[in-house]
Amino acid sequence: MTLKSRTAVVTGSTSGIGLAIARAFAAEGANIVINGLGDADAIETERAKIEKDFGVLCSYSAANMLKADEIHGMITDAEAKFGSVDVLVNNAGIQFVSPIESFPADKWDQIIAINLTAAFHAIQAAVPGMRSRKWGRIINTASAHSKVASPFKSAYVSAKHGLDGLTKTVALEVAKDGVTANCISPGYVWTPLVEKQIPETMEARHMTKEQVMNDVLLAAQPTKQFVTVEQVAGLCVFLCSDAAANITGANLSIDGGWTAE
Ligand code: NAD
Repeated sequence: MTLKSRTAVVTGSTSGIGLAIARAFAAEGANIVINGLGDADAIETERAKIEKDFGVLCSYSAANMLKADEIHGMITDAEAKFGSVDVLVNNAGIQFVSPIESFPADKWDQIIAINLTAAFHAIQAAVPGMRSRKWGRIINTASAHSKVASPFKSAYVSAKHGLDGLTKTVALEVAKDGVTANCISPGYVWTPLVEKQIPETMEARHMTKEQVMNDVLLAAQPTKQFVTVEQVAGLCVFLCSDAAANITGANLSIDGGWTAE
């Protein structure tokens, strides 16, 4: 078990990619802190299921990724409860699709805050402990949109490009301390985040749902398949293994060939 006796905090893990990563880490023996928004009963069901399915401890942090103090609190609470935060996955993210002229300023601020600034706060809180223990893994869920752009996603593309820069900078700062920092960059993964942007894209591009699915989403992916959450989680588990100890400052694509074009 790659992560026996480790603790992993995964932000935005009440659904989609984050939940799959949390469950994959638990399968490798890690204690888990899940985080995110959503229905309290549904979150408690997922939390209890992780403990039952994998025989690890799992707690829930309600920290809002818009709030620096709550993000710092999430890390200090996890350290107090489990003794350490060894793996940090900054995964919480939101999307909004609109032409630049009408892109709402408040949506810009929220996307930059949740998709980029929250990672800065969580990393700042977690790095001292990782450094002192000479082991740590920081994984930032970026996107193919950290490497290339698409129209109408100005805030998201900016935040994800920023996350790539933050990751490289942190990787250099902690390089001698047994701590790695990497981005993972999925293409389109079938999750609620992708499902929700279909109506906005239909409006922005004047398309039907089928046209958005085939001509916008899967058009970008040469494999013509959505990436699965399990495939993304598998990459995260690998990045926590000893084999990945010298992979740092990287931005690893898992996008069906999208960014090769
Ligand atoms: P999702 O909507 O299923 O999950 C997003 C998670 O973030 C949820 O748990 C949600 O509660 C949480 N979240 C949102 N706002 C929050 C806040 N203010 N505070 C705390 N948590 C908050 O989406 P997903 O597709 O699983 O996305 C996860 C990550 O993967 C995001 O960073 C996204 O940008 C990235 N990503 C997704 C895709 C894709 O195709 N789905 C592709 C590339 C990158």
